[in-house]
Amino acid sequence: MFDVCNIQVMKPLLNQYGFHFSKAKGQNFLIAQWVPERIAEDAGVDEAAGVLEIGPGIGPLTQQLCLRAGKVCAVELDTRLKPILEMTVGEFSNLEIIWNDVLKLDIPALVAEKFSGLRPMACANLPYYITSDILTALLEAECFDSVTVMVQKEVAQRIAAKPGTADYSAFTVFCQYYAQPELLFDVPAGCFLPQPKVTSAVICLRVRKERPWQIDSEELFFRTVRASFAMRRKTLQNGLAAGFPELGKAGAGEVIAACGFASDVRGETLDIAGFAALSNEINRRRRHG
Ligand code: SAM
Repeated sequence: MFDVCNIQVMKPLLNQYGFHFSKAKGQNFLIAQWVPERIAEDAGVDEAAGVLEIGPGIGPLTQQLCLRAGKVCAVELDTRLKPILEMTVGEFSNLEIIWNDVLKLDIPALVAEKFSGLRPMACANLPYYITSDILTALLEAECFDSVTVMVQKEVAQRIAAKPGTADYSAFTVFCQYYAQPELLFDVPAGCFLPQPKVTSAVICLRVRKERPWQIDSEELFFRTVRASFAMRRKTLQNGLAAGFPELGKAGAGEVIAACGFASDVRGETLDIAGFAALSNEINRRRRHG
């Protein structure tokens, strides 16, 4: 197999095709073989899996996925990588490369078309400039068994954060609504070419088969979450009053009291069940006045 993480092999290959890294496309390529091996292994990729990879680059993770999965579809934006990927992963008959922007794809339709009879998974070393957009699309697609990605370490910590901590955010609640995160391992900047300025981490999001909350309106739930985090140093009452002007400050206070929270509670201390209770109460008041 082509030794794609070996810098002595990779640099001449990139030079041969006149390839220059694009910062705008988030191109930091892996040069430490243990990293893609461990991502594919820890993600639990096996022959029953259909794996969507985002951003194969020159193919280090693609190789490891193809060695284990029933099928791999890799979506890459940068067509300059065509001849290089042909050399590094052209040998794999279970690989299909889709030359497109992942954010322009209908992901559920793609998964249904390409992975029939397989267990769909997503696995990627993500381009960091669109991490949250891609994660949002992958989770909202509601068609993956798990999503295992390398992201900036601080983003991984944010995704896995607990209520009441500094890292806990609206994005945490969004991700944990859809999935249960597990931090897998850190990856130092020296494992990439060019080196990013930050440490990276691999996180596995196991998508919930069933969500253990009763939520009357998903749209209202996420609006409640956004309002609750919008004014971090203010009380929840102020946040809800600003996010739901129709409630007013007094109405926001009544909602909080009806859910059994203290009047000075802060939004960032609530768990998903707490946000569910708030949004259900707002919904009830809307319908019954
Ligand atoms: N998987 C390779 C590795 O680990 O060495 C490359 C990872 S690099 C961090 C991110 C890759 O995503 C690049 O190959 C980049 O061209 C690609 N990319 C960037 N934006 C993209 C988009 N919108 N859709 C698909 N691929 C994208």
